Amino acid sequence: MRRMALALGSNMGDSAKLLQGAIDDLAAVDGIDITAVSAVFETDPVGGPEQEPYLNAVAIGRTVLDDASLLAATQRVEQGWHRVREVRWGPRTLDVDILAIDDEMILTEDLVVPHPRAHVRGFVLIPWLDVDPDAVIAGRGRVEQLVAAVDVTGVRTTSVVLVIPGHGGAQ
Ligand code: ATP
Ligand code: CA
Ligand code: CA
Repeated sequence: MRRMALALGSNMGDSAKLLQGAIDDLAAVDGIDITAVSAVFETDPVGGPEQEPYLNAVAIGRTVLDDASLLAATQRVEQGWHRVREVRWGPRTLDVDILAIDDEMILTEDLVVPHPRAHVRGFVLIPWLDVDPDAVIAGRGRVEQLVAAVDVTGVRTTSVVLVIPGHGGAQ
């Protein structure tokens, strides 16, 4: 059983509903147990074309899946919502990134863990710190220290609360 951190983001459609849908779908995957979810933050887009602000959150969980199966599972969850997106919305309803798996360093064509840009992204580090104050990025350091070195002016709190199915209420 390995511990993992996942980053969730959405800036098209009803992003709060989409993030909750992603949590529900991830929790329903055989071999994935979602144990904690951060507060939801509204964040100004970093890079890319001009676009709406995102909602971002980080989920912590456990998995018995191997690397490829975990990546495939997160991509299936994305695609479940992307299909809806492709009919009605723009190109970015849901993004699920694997931030970390234990303290492993994985470098394959399809999967790089820790996520290679997580340590410089306020929209990742702030929710990650919220859900796991002791989080460490292998090879980079404590999230608590990394967040002090990045620009977090575009990261704002929201009142959106994500619920883990079967955990009996809000986090
Ligand atoms: P970024 O990676 O900068 O956040 P993105 O999330 O927009 O950008 P995507 O288009 O969603 O990028 O993903 C492109 C590819 O990244 C995926 O097909 C996947 O194989 C690969 N990938 C590598 N490492 C990871 C990871 N840790 N989590 C998720 N995808 C990853
Ligand atoms: Ca991403
Ligand atoms: Ca991604």
